Amino acid sequence: MLIPVRRAALHLLRSAGVFRLVSESKWRENRLLILCYHGISRYDEHVWRPSLYMHPEVLLQRLEILKQGQYNVLRFGEALQRLQTGDLPPRSLAITFDDGGYDFYAAGFPIIKRFGFPVTVYQTTYYGDYQEPIFNLVCSYLLWKGRDRILQNPKELGLTEPLDLRTETSRAQIVRKLVLDADASNLTGVQKNDLAATVAKSLDISYDEIISSRIFQLMNSSERAELAAVGVDFQLHTHRHRTPLEEGLFRKEVQDNRRSLQQLGETAIHFCYPSGIYRPEFSTWLQRENVVSATTCDSGLASKRSNPFLLPRFVDSSARSGVEFEAWLTGLGAWMTLRKAAPQIVPAAAGSASQVNDAVHSALANQARRK
Ligand SMILES: [Zn+2]
Repeated sequence: MLIPVRRAALHLLRSAGVFRLVSESKWRENRLLILCYHGISRYDEHVWRPSLYMHPEVLLQRLEILKQGQYNVLRFGEALQRLQTGDLPPRSLAITFDDGGYDFYAAGFPIIKRFGFPVTVYQTTYYGDYQEPIFNLVCSYLLWKGRDRILQNPKELGLTEPLDLRTETSRAQIVRKLVLDADASNLTGVQKNDLAATVAKSLDISYDEIISSRIFQLMNSSERAELAAVGVDFQLHTHRHRTPLEEGLFRKEVQDNRRSLQQLGETAIHFCYPSGIYRPEFSTWLQRENVVSATTCDSGLASKRSNPFLLPRFVDSSARSGVEFEAWLTGLGAWMTLRKAAPQIVPAAAGSASQVNDAVHSALANQARRK
């Protein structure tokens, strides 16, 4: 259905009282909605990539809707237990954030805290100790910043042709070339950071400011500890944001990730697939690591019959309207969605280090490989 038509239909259904009927139904009471968020913008990231970054004001509005609608926001682990025992309160949901970016610490959590809602962060841990921006993302962002320009002489970037930054397609091609060349040259993290600094310089952007802003960086261990001390629940998302296809390597990702989170308190037992990509064997490997649940980026509400290692979520973003968000809270959104499963892109080579399906995740995986 075309988006404006769908939105109009949702407004009609809400006015007709259908939202309320569904949200108060027994069907909804037996289901858990798991909300999924990525970045909360601190500057203009939501303009650059609205599918990944949400303006803090939009997050505030979302949480206001939860409060006004008297939704029962549960701690994730408790919510899963109560789902299994058939003991969920009406209109129940859990809030999750993927990756654990610095923006969660600086922009996301301060808003959530105002409402007192419990929140789970699926934290990838390796990158947190490297206080530099994720290479692919910062390159893409810098080129977007220069989107009215043509760089006539990009020799210092290792490129020969003039770079036209005026269209999204050409910018994406340039980022791709920078990333592939950097990988082919086996650049270290430090060298990639230097290259990103050169990109910034060629666009007259201060890279020092980019670094000190902590944009595209992850939370470090002391920031995680600070949030854990006030109740933020940290769970597993692999150490290097990748899911190797070889069991030993896959399980090592879980073990390293868990070890890094150990200092925060309780042992992490819930997992979220990086990039939402899963394979049948992953659930067995996770169980061997004493993991009890895994969330995907597939759309839906979880029920008692859901596979606990393939739990669906609602991936919220700036691109979603308020009425669409509300439809998902009631449960109605699950009935109206067209594409339920997230794209599953499996790497060509078995045992490959990572599987990626979007810029953030590709960036995280690439960053880790080169450290
Ligand atoms: Zn992720």
